Amino acid sequence: MSERFVYADHAATTQLSPKAVEVIQKLSAEEFYNPSAIYGKAERARGIMDSSRALLAEIIGAEQDEIIFTSGGTESDNMALFGVMEASRNIKKHLITTAIEHSAVLLPAKKIMSQGNAVTLIEPDRKGKISPEAVKKAIRNETILVSVMAANNEIGTVEPIGAIGRICAEKGVIFHTDAVQALGHLPINVKNDHIRLLSASAHKFGGPKGVGFLYIKRGTPIKPLFLGGGQERGFRSGTENVIGVAAMAAALKDAVEHMEEENSRLNSLTAIINSAVLSLTDVVKTGDETGRLPGHLSYVIKNVSGEALVHFMDMEGIAVSAGSACSAGKNHVSHVLQSIGFDENEAASSVRISLGRENTAADAHYIAQKLTHIIRHIREISL
Ligand code: PLP
Repeated sequence: MSERFVYADHAATTQLSPKAVEVIQKLSAEEFYNPSAIYGKAERARGIMDSSRALLAEIIGAEQDEIIFTSGGTESDNMALFGVMEASRNIKKHLITTAIEHSAVLLPAKKIMSQGNAVTLIEPDRKGKISPEAVKKAIRNETILVSVMAANNEIGTVEPIGAIGRICAEKGVIFHTDAVQALGHLPINVKNDHIRLLSASAHKFGGPKGVGFLYIKRGTPIKPLFLGGGQERGFRSGTENVIGVAAMAAALKDAVEHMEEENSRLNSLTAIINSAVLSLTDVVKTGDETGRLPGHLSYVIKNVSGEALVHFMDMEGIAVSAGSACSAGKNHVSHVLQSIGFDENEAASSVRISLGRENTAADAHYIAQKLTHIIRHIREISL
């Protein structure tokens, strides 16, 4: 095993940002009060919730009462889909989503279909882009909800959510975006992008795991997933994760404040790795070349098992992932790669490298060197 360790799997999760650590350290010892209680100390906890909510709302262009805290991206996605479909009294209901969504959207969509509703899955083009025109064509009278992710976790493609949001607004259809990969990394404004529901997860932008939020535009009909004590104005029962919420707000503020410079820094690092990898034969970069998440690289590498590659990289002290690492370590063939035209074998030969704030130019060179060496080595031994 190598002495050196380079973490390059930031699309799976990120390290806590120093601002989030500061907040956690400051609040952990003292702020254990239940914000629903009525004594003075609890009022302080409520104040922390309120100021965090205000900060998050301001960052995405929302109102304070439009932010509902959840346990993360999965819960927010589930609530958006089930909550909106259930709230509609229509007899015939139709949901539109895409073939490349995270399973936190795809599996609820499947269940919604099994409950007797119609579901349309829009296929992307070869770069993983969802066409706003295709969404427009799919909308019909019974369409209640359109759910399109802001950026894809596996191939990094950024989706034209502003254009899709505008079409939905014109057609009077609710638009949800899973912004779990995009928030904190790309500018998002719910008003400009005509978004009525937005899912976010703190651990993708330097906040803690197990906390996130769902933005719900005022007046959007939606039912809660959890019933209980009526916290979050009845939208999400359960005692609030005060410290997690405060750390999430601090992390997002920090991420957006440094977004521009950080993104250009990350682009220069990915360029180092990209030119080395693409100098090899039979390597295809997946996703969109220009409209992609900063720091995100993904490839299909002919005759190289993605799983073997990840293990060899691990032995060199580099953490990357094969396809998506968002499914509890499961070794499944990527539905995303298949839907952009790769066959099962090719999809099993994929690797994702996602860089983040602690990565340096030296890391990028180290990754480039080891990755190209390992690809050649795997190809040699499997001849
Ligand atoms: N949506 C996308 C696009 C993701 O990449 C993830 C990552 O795991 C999720 C949803 C789930 O988020 P969480 O881990 O907060 O449940």
